[in-house]
Amino acid sequence: MRGFNEVLAVDAAAGWVDSEGMITYEDLTRECLAHGVMPAVVPQLKTITLGGAVAGVGIESSSHRYGLVHDTMLELEVLLGEGRIVTCTADNEHADLFFGFPNSYGTLGYALRVKARTVPVKPYVRLEHIGFQSADKFFHALGERLRSGEADFVDGTVFSPRQMYITLGRFADTAPYTSDYTYERIYYRSIAEKREDYLTVHDYIWRWDTDWFWCSKNVFAQHPLIRRLYGKERLGSRTYTKIMRWNSRVGITKKVERVLGIHSESVIQDVDIPLSRGRVPGVLWARDRTLAAVGLPDRAATPQVFPLSGAARVVRQLRLLGREAHARGPSGGALQPPDRAQGRRARWHQVALLGQLLHAGGIQQSYGGPAYAALKAKYDPQGAFPQLYEKCVLRR
Ligand SMILES: Cc1cc2nc3c(=O)[nH]c(=O)nc-3n(C[C@H](O)[C@H](O)[C@H](O)COP(=O)(O)OP(=O)(O)OC[C@H]3O[C@@H](n4cnc5c(N)ncnc54)[C@H](O)[C@@H]3O)c2cc1C
Repeated sequence: MRGFNEVLAVDAAAGWVDSEGMITYEDLTRECLAHGVMPAVVPQLKTITLGGAVAGVGIESSSHRYGLVHDTMLELEVLLGEGRIVTCTADNEHADLFFGFPNSYGTLGYALRVKARTVPVKPYVRLEHIGFQSADKFFHALGERLRSGEADFVDGTVFSPRQMYITLGRFADTAPYTSDYTYERIYYRSIAEKREDYLTVHDYIWRWDTDWFWCSKNVFAQHPLIRRLYGKERLGSRTYTKIMRWNSRVGITKKVERVLGIHSESVIQDVDIPLSRGRVPGVLWARDRTLAAVGLPDRAATPQVFPLSGAARVVRQLRLLGREAHARGPSGGALQPPDRAQGRRARWHQVALLGQLLHAGGIQQSYGGPAYAALKAKYDPQGAFPQLYEKCVLRR
């Protein structure tokens, strides 16, 4: 299906883009910006595809206004297992698949075409980084900023339990200067160094991709000399994904660790924490306790916060997921525990951290059950695609 990667039409006035499902967000966004708009929600990594973000989950700093990527969907064309193609909207005969497709990970069918909302842009984005030393004050302020709704973009970054930032982004027609984080300088570091900043709208959308948040350090790309060796063109999630996939295929890291007698584990957690439960700060301590439990400095994992507020339509989807509208909490980070973690079973830290996060009020994606079974029976009766558990857990 790789060839289904073209934009079919952009209607800036009506606020939509119609595109084939395998298009990367890098290509989709480029086309939209040429029409003075952007997709309403653009996940941070250039390689993520529109269909993948709809079938998986996509979120970004505009999600406080527009929800997740799939909440911006207007129409979906799905290739089913037996080769039939159905068009799904929120109120046609395939509305059940329209609402059940998110989180289905390609087990109900493949998104051949997606029509999604766009929003008008201005040439620049002015950023305001607001610092906090208390998690209570941080999440309280986040709730206030969400309720005011005046910023076009809202996200947060937690460097440690005593150093957190809310970043507000507002479109701007002019800018006294613009910063460049596509080569020598690193965006996430600027959050702690600057109170105000200006980026072009393109560079704002891709501000996290150049260093894959902060994960470029895992491939030594934050070392100034090695960064130059990479060169500007190769800095980005596309390169790091290739290196990570090559490494897991040939097992270089595993071989080196075996020789050194150490054990490392990447921990990337997406957990939702309802702000209304007022227990979000507890989650940061939970993360801290886990880090402390394995004797790690709290800079080892830098959570990111993307606020998400519910819209009517989300409710119908949530019924499939059995959840309320809320803020989406800590995610992203790689843990390299010191060797005293040796001898622990694989994924120990993932499980330990998740246990603490869920205990502190976090919610992780749960999907399946009777609603999913009914969709599977209706749209993939012959089982052309694997079941969800087989695909996502057993990786079949
Ligand atoms: C390391 C990592 C970092 C991430 N970072 C972010 C982030 O910063 N922001 C964010 O919003 N999300 C992030 N995600 C989540 C990501 O958006 C989802 O995993 C998304 O599903 C990936 O889409 P993809 O196009 O890369 O597809 P793939 O990773 O190739 O596929 C993901 C799943 O979607 C299915 N799929 C792909 N295309 C289609 C299609 N056209 N129709 C039906 N099913 C399809 C695949 O079968 C697979 O099950 C991250 C995920 C990972 C693994």
